[in-house]
Amino acid sequence: MDKQAMREEAERLMREAMTRKGVTVKQGDTRIMATCGKCGAQNKVSAPKGTSRVKYTCKECGVEQMAL
Ligand SMILES: [Zn+2]
Repeated sequence: MDKQAMREEAERLMREAMTRKGVTVKQGDTRIMATCGKCGAQNKVSAPKGTSRVKYTCKECGVEQMAL
């Protein structure tokens, strides 16, 4: 087995392990910290690629709002 084949094998095993664990690599998703307009809590919101506004519910007070 040459180096190229070994590297490909290692990558394949890593992908399989990640699939088993249910870890999905979401490419392009952006994480934004949104400050609640009501209580001021910091909310971690993940927005799909290309989205500039994302609706989220505050984890502290439950108010639904938009994060930019
Ligand atoms: Zn809040």
